[in-house]
Amino acid sequence: MKYGFGIDLGGTTVKLAFFDREGNILNKWEIPTRCENGGENILPDIVNAVESFLTQNRISKADIIGIGIGVPGAVNGQGIVNECHNLGWGVFNIEQTLSQLTGLPVKAGNDANAASLGECWKGGGQGHSSLVMITLGTGVGGGIIVDGKILCGARGSAGEIGHMVLNRDEPEYCTCGKRGCVEQYCSATGIVRQARQFLTSDSRPSVLRETANLTCKAIFDAAAAGDPVAKDILEQVYTQLAEFCANLANSLDPEIILLGGGVSKAGQPLLDGICRHFQDYVFPAVSDMKFALATLGNDAGAVGAFKLALDNFG
Ligand code: ZN
Repeated sequence: MKYGFGIDLGGTTVKLAFFDREGNILNKWEIPTRCENGGENILPDIVNAVESFLTQNRISKADIIGIGIGVPGAVNGQGIVNECHNLGWGVFNIEQTLSQLTGLPVKAGNDANAASLGECWKGGGQGHSSLVMITLGTGVGGGIIVDGKILCGARGSAGEIGHMVLNRDEPEYCTCGKRGCVEQYCSATGIVRQARQFLTSDSRPSVLRETANLTCKAIFDAAAAGDPVAKDILEQVYTQLAEFCANLANSLDPEIILLGGGVSKAGQPLLDGICRHFQDYVFPAVSDMKFALATLGNDAGAVGAFKLALDNFG
């Protein structure tokens, strides 16, 4: 068996990639995710994509290791999806269903967890076997890899680190219905929210006051250009991220924490900022833990999904 598929199933597109055993992407393409009618077309569309790819390229199923798939919701260790609301799905065993439809072995995982496995294997975490990946995007997601394997938890919900509580006194609600989650402060939207609050409570002049459409990138750019208010806003964010990372490090003792997602495009200043405060919160025995940036971008999910198949069927 020489090849396999890695599939990153998102709410709007399905990213498919075809790999060799070493994890090189030989081909990749996308199809739309059709969520109507309870998402009944999603798996048949994937089956068609896989079957026609194999036919067109004259590849026999005997040469296929299997299919790995990352799903935007909770998936337990047995492959049972627990209500992917954004796809319209209820509770069912996606591994069994997709395997019956394709005649190929299938291993499934949560998409953020799969992306973390991909980064561990081929990305910023290469060479490490235990890590935490933090995805700072419109929300805060992540994944935990222990001894080279995804920690999926009893309910398939391990790695939902963005809903760790940072502030018990927060008056506003998070998307999860609770208050004070990391996501409310350190996601791209959270950083902008904090900047707005900061600008009202601080009277110093700042280029951010003249920015009509305040974005996370505008705040990082202003800080890099020396704007003192932007620098103070980010210092507050770095302190929060440092506390968050220290809590993760203290409980999981990973070799490395990886930062991915749109906010991580800020690069080295983000890593340096977190490191400036990390020692204030971390347990001394784990204080030499390292930080790095994720490197695979949009491919991480498919790479990690294929690794799931390789680990289980290769
Ligand atoms: Zn939350």
